[in-house]
Amino acid sequence: MTVLGDMLAARIAATGPITVAEYMAECLMHPAHGYYSTRDPFGVAGDFTTAPEISQMFGELIGLCLAQAWLDQGSPAPFTLAELGPGRGTLMADVMRATRAVPGFHAGARIVLVEASATLRNVQARTLDAYAPVWADSVASLPDQPLFLLANEFFDALPIRQFQRDDGGWRERMVGVSEGRLRFGLSALLPEGMIGPRFQADPPGTVVEVCPALPAIAQAIGQRIAARGGVALVIDYGGWRSKGDTLQALRGHAPEDPLAQPGAADLTAHVDFEALALAMGVARTGLTGQGVLLKRLGIDQRAARLGAELAGEVLQSHLAAHRRLTHPEEMGSVFKAIAFHAPVAPAPPGFDPSHA
Ligand code: SAH
Repeated sequence: MTVLGDMLAARIAATGPITVAEYMAECLMHPAHGYYSTRDPFGVAGDFTTAPEISQMFGELIGLCLAQAWLDQGSPAPFTLAELGPGRGTLMADVMRATRAVPGFHAGARIVLVEASATLRNVQARTLDAYAPVWADSVASLPDQPLFLLANEFFDALPIRQFQRDDGGWRERMVGVSEGRLRFGLSALLPEGMIGPRFQADPPGTVVEVCPALPAIAQAIGQRIAARGGVALVIDYGGWRSKGDTLQALRGHAPEDPLAQPGAADLTAHVDFEALALAMGVARTGLTGQGVLLKRLGIDQRAARLGAELAGEVLQSHLAAHRRLTHPEEMGSVFKAIAFHAPVAPAPPGFDPSHA
């Protein structure tokens, strides 16, 4: 096991099992041994690749979508251009390049990056040097301004708790130790009413996941949008009411047991978009497949335009990137997008209408 694994096993032996959320938080963000604290995990040599790392087209189209929403709201300035969990800063760099010609957008934008990892802050500082970004530790410290916010694969990195129903009620899935190894187990029966009303009708055997950090984050964003205007574009994998055990570990682009290498594998869980929408509390679009969204925003035309100047292997990898971002069997439908916006404003382009 890893150094962090030994530390967690010793702690659990001394003070008892920990929740899946505590386990995830330690694995991802432990200051010395956490996954994001110690590395830049993206790309071919890393553990996973995200949409902005696959092709510049992703950030360009998302940037133009965001800029259109800003124009539709009367070009408010100054405004906060925020990103949650910006990784290498690639998405924001592509957004800025694509929006150069939008009158007043760059002049009015104050870029704020919400990033927990010091390692990735350094990478972002290099990528975005030309745009003088500032960093925030949490959404609570975003400026009191119109807010135009992006979050791609951020919410899936937030720790979740898992609960399982049996005939007698709900139990929590915990991480304990047996025979010197980390193992999953179940807590004693929880008091009635601990699991929210959304899940009360579920039959025995159901596993549900709750993200304790999500409501406060979504409320802070929603409050700014309600008071000052703006929009939040959230892209992630998950579903409207995501059910089941979705905790997943990825290392070297391959799935592995989430308890096998604490701190050395990326851990994620599906995003519960309904919980996000409930806490945001502002107008929203429907949940839209990433492939459909990118096609409506013009990815086919953009791909043809870029492809016209390419040949050979570079052209092949460009075509593969287009397919990977949009095809239903690749990222096109597993990844979903939703936009939250000021009630008086039109929805940003490309999103399904809300049926709520
Ligand atoms: N959006 C990027 C990176 C996704 S990975 C992309 O699409 O490529 C998740 C990102 O969220 C990383 O930058 C990670 O350090 C950051 N992150 C994870 N948990 C966080 C938290 N609680 N607060 C702030 N940033 C966090």
